[in-house]
Amino acid sequence: VFFYFQNITNNKEDIMARISQETIEEVRAVPILDLAIALGDNPKRTGKQYQVFCPNPNHSENTPDTYIEPNKNIFNCFGGGGCGAKGNDSLRYYGWHEHGEYENKLFVKCVKGVAETMGITIKYDDGSVEGSKKPKKKYKPREIFNETPAQSDKVVDQVYRAFLSLCPIKENHARELLMERKYQKDEVMSIQLRSVPTMQEWIPILRTLRNKKYPLEFVPGFSQRFIPDGYETPFPVELMQRDDERKGYWVFVPSASAGYFIPVRNEFGHIVRLRVRRDTGSPKYIWFSSYDNSRTEENILKVRRKGASSGAPVNVVPPVSLIPNWEVGTDLCDYFKTDVVIATEGEHKSYISAKLLKLVLLGAPGVGNFKEILPIIQRWEVKKFIIAYDMDALNRKDDSEKEVKKQKTIFEKLKEFALEVHKLGIDVYLWTWNISDAKGLDDLLLATKTPVEVNLRTGDKKLVNLKELHNVA
Ligand SMILES: [Zn+2]
Repeated sequence: VFFYFQNITNNKEDIMARISQETIEEVRAVPILDLAIALGDNPKRTGKQYQVFCPNPNHSENTPDTYIEPNKNIFNCFGGGGCGAKGNDSLRYYGWHEHGEYENKLFVKCVKGVAETMGITIKYDDGSVEGSKKPKKKYKPREIFNETPAQSDKVVDQVYRAFLSLCPIKENHARELLMERKYQKDEVMSIQLRSVPTMQEWIPILRTLRNKKYPLEFVPGFSQRFIPDGYETPFPVELMQRDDERKGYWVFVPSASAGYFIPVRNEFGHIVRLRVRRDTGSPKYIWFSSYDNSRTEENILKVRRKGASSGAPVNVVPPVSLIPNWEVGTDLCDYFKTDVVIATEGEHKSYISAKLLKLVLLGAPGVGNFKEILPIIQRWEVKKFIIAYDMDALNRKDDSEKEVKKQKTIFEKLKEFALEVHKLGIDVYLWTWNISDAKGLDDLLLATKTPVEVNLRTGDKKLVNLKELHNVA
């Protein structure tokens, strides 16, 4: 009895009137995006997502790397590998925003905070009401749709190969690839590096793909846009799909413009996704990705349908000379020795390093993004796994609190990554070098400098002997 009593008296909320279920429902129904706007976080739209600076006051970033996805009503921080700020309702967003965390003990505070921010009147079970000074806005739960997944890797591969073979290679891109990045002509062809077509160039490509019956729906990067009757369009009627109800036409368009494509392969040699190196704008590298907002977007001119998200898969990069004879559908480990594998970030970096080291590289964005790498290296029976991310990702710019914190987060992710690899019974090493010698592994190798290898289990360091790299016990 005493215990029970103590429990009640310790919990103030239980003695005071409870917030009504009606109010809790109304607060929960506030979309995260609406709350972020009301809190002054200034979300910027990028495709189907919105970017904001991390709501966690303990996490400062240089770029807005927290994503809000209104269709799913979720938010997730990816800055510096992610600080843990994420959730699927406005209460969690509010908790991270105001308290740098979300826990059950913050529930009442967050309900009240969201209500206050959004101008929702709080009703209590005993009938009392806590008014809001702001004008009241009634929120109804938003319908959450599941995304249609992309087509299978096999279909996507067939569509991308056909598409890339029809894309031009523009002079400025050829110059960059051959002169600056030192690719050979046949390497550009093997990798299938191609320029993004202009809208005029896209029309005959679309015609060919349609004639050959390649499906563009739910292939990441392609989606249909709507052209109302009376709008001027370069597309001939036979390449469009009539919509009598909406009075207009649907036509497939690529989501990229001005830049070139870099194919991303899976371990079976399928071209599963495309990266785009953009001529202008930031960031320079983006995914060729599309979306379907036809159920949520009210402005018909902004509707894109039958698109699919690229996600961010691992890029499997063998030495480029192997690509022409790598039969699509064959696991790379059945074709090439995968005893030693290197993980890094960046497409050109991976291709150039794989070629110079005659090893397989796995490209994944950021050290925190390793989950997809694990099943691949396990199946390949990798013996030695090397982590070789850019030195500017591991080093801190200065001794400011922010930089120290950022570096700590990255090292924690790195430790986690190494531990997971170690658990698979694979020896794991970190390659480091002097940042003044090179930023990335490719530049270091091109400068014929050698990385220092750190055994992450023992802490032993030694200079890498590139000639002995392939000999593992
Ligand atoms: Zn964060």
